[in-house]
Amino acid sequence: MTLEYRRRTGEKPLTKFIDAENAAKVTLCSWPTDFLGNVPDLVQTCHVDHPDRKDEYTQTDIDQAIDAITNGTALWQTLEMLDFLFLFEGVTRYFTHQLVRARVGVTFTQQCSGEGDRRHVDVVVPRCFNRGLREDYIRICSGQKNAYASGMDLAIEDSQGTEREYRMFLPSGITNHIYMKCNLAMLMPWYHKRTCTMTQSWEMHLIAEQVKRELLSKCPWLRKAFFNQCESGRCFYTNAMKKDPNNILGRLFAPDDNHAMHMANAVKDNEFVYGQPDEQVAGLEVATVYYHGSEQVTADVYEHFKAKYNG
Ligand SMILES: [Zn+2]
Repeated sequence: MTLEYRRRTGEKPLTKFIDAENAAKVTLCSWPTDFLGNVPDLVQTCHVDHPDRKDEYTQTDIDQAIDAITNGTALWQTLEMLDFLFLFEGVTRYFTHQLVRARVGVTFTQQCSGEGDRRHVDVVVPRCFNRGLREDYIRICSGQKNAYASGMDLAIEDSQGTEREYRMFLPSGITNHIYMKCNLAMLMPWYHKRTCTMTQSWEMHLIAEQVKRELLSKCPWLRKAFFNQCESGRCFYTNAMKKDPNNILGRLFAPDDNHAMHMANAVKDNEFVYGQPDEQVAGLEVATVYYHGSEQVTADVYEHFKAKYNG
């Protein structure tokens, strides 16, 4: 195996400022396949004389067993035996910090910011920045990346092993990638919680919906288990508000139409700290902007220097 680490000394940072909502990419790398035929066995382990009757099961038997474990009418443990491996790319560390809060039945491995030279990494731009702060954001992030590159050059020059310290200069909105291995017992409640548009950041609930699309494209047998609960009045926000109209969640964000229909009038009359989540997210797609050092360049110039630096 060759090590990808490469010194970038003297190279000006190349930066693609990209639309945050289009930046993320979710890939389901592995999922249960052959093992599915065993699910009826697992569901009825308590009752059968002999396990492994795989050859006797029809597709209907398997479908019914999957339904039973995902709708809660069979023992829960089988959910823990079905494993999935996801790769998330083009995501921020705000997203990954939320993602890694899931602890049971899940493990992660993530790109490090302190090993390797990250001067050419992309930066995401939230759509609401189109309202007036986008240029400031791009200018400041470019400055941070230039300072980071200077620090990395200095670290190589003085050989004091200080490369990792200069990552403090990197902007918060840089992209990275992370793998997540989880089982179905973790994935189902994670999806239901993280797709609530009232309580989750736009990046989280949009990526959670990507997880669903990717998952069902490869595992259509899970279609009944993954649905957004906001419209049915069973989501994280609505449940919290039903139990306590003064819940802190309900003091922060005014319910949007999907949620308001499930709220008591007393909640709708609350004074909220922020507006509706949609108002914070809405905005035109951000056109990709290219930088070389502190200078805005065309896509062609960006590609020219990228090829030159990697040549
Ligand atoms: Zn919701």
